[in-house]
Amino acid sequence: RAYNFNAGPAALPLEVLERAQAEFVDFRETGMSIMEMSHRGAVYESVHNEAQERLLSLLGNPSGYKVLFIQGGATTQFAMIPLNFLSEGKVGSYVMTGSWADKAFKEAKIAGGAHVAATSEDKKFLAIPDLGSIKPADNAAYLHITSNETIEGTQYSEFPDTGSLPLIADMSSDILSRAFDVNKFGLIYAGAQKNLGPSGVTVVIAKEELIAESPSNIPTILRYSTHYKNNSLYNTPPSYSIYMVNQVLKWIEEQGGLAGVEAKNRDKAGLLYNTIDGSGGFYRGVAEQGSRSIMNVTFRMESEELEKKFIKASEQEGFVGLKGHRSVGGLRASIYNAVPYESIKALTDFMSHFQKTNG
Ligand code: PLP
Repeated sequence: RAYNFNAGPAALPLEVLERAQAEFVDFRETGMSIMEMSHRGAVYESVHNEAQERLLSLLGNPSGYKVLFIQGGATTQFAMIPLNFLSEGKVGSYVMTGSWADKAFKEAKIAGGAHVAATSEDKKFLAIPDLGSIKPADNAAYLHITSNETIEGTQYSEFPDTGSLPLIADMSSDILSRAFDVNKFGLIYAGAQKNLGPSGVTVVIAKEELIAESPSNIPTILRYSTHYKNNSLYNTPPSYSIYMVNQVLKWIEEQGGLAGVEAKNRDKAGLLYNTIDGSGGFYRGVAEQGSRSIMNVTFRMESEELEKKFIKASEQEGFVGLKGHRSVGGLRASIYNAVPYESIKALTDFMSHFQKTNG
């Protein structure tokens, strides 16, 4: 197996891939692959419902929440959120933390009402704004945050309290990486392809009162209520992706749930950041200390030339995906749930060796 540090689609747990392989052709002795089955049949529906139940159970079974499976990626959620929640005279308030927050904000602008509740642009988006500086508009329908900025490598360590104003979070790149209180949120969404499974499905966890009714002047498939009322089976769901999400959720249970996964993630991130910080400036962390992500570790070296050399040498040693996003450059190691500690250990050994021979 490669040392996979891709930002997304990203590494999946080996056990999950092997289990999926074992039942790929003949699922539960039906003589069919799960992907060949009708999504209206009892076998598929049991997997679909199991995935929803497992997810809520990992989150502590919060009451009044529903899990939806929607297509179109997190990017479609950027548009669905304002389309569903911005009634006449309302705006969406956004915390501007970087590239993904900006994409979400721009869709609200198209839908007719986007407001900046706080921004870290003055810090080049290398920090999360102080929670105290976040000021939603008086006519806000919701406050939107991006819990982890995949490109810049920043992450909220705590979430704002919004009282009765719904808090909406794009958790695409850190969902289920740590324990958190779902009850603070009105709606959470995440493309599956980092911590939840393969691409093709977006998971939405929402308060039922927010999604039970949607405006009738938006297309049927873009209404949360359509997915809510039909248990995400209004049209053909991405059944194989959902099956894989269920496998990944089972694996997270086996890791000791969110607390177990969080402890492992903190060890992994700690090892990598310690190597960066202990390099005497040879490697430099990009994000501010208090805003560092435990999922996407961004760092730089003295020159772009040296970074290129590092990437090339790393690829020769079997490391995949260490190049920073094309919009910001530098280096990035995405260390999602499925990346084992051993991969980080191999990377930090490589980094130390590279420093010795190039420092
Ligand atoms: N939001 C965040 C934080 C992301 O990291 C990404 C993808 O990398 C997206 C949204 C876009 O997701 P999708 O490609 O599923 O539309």
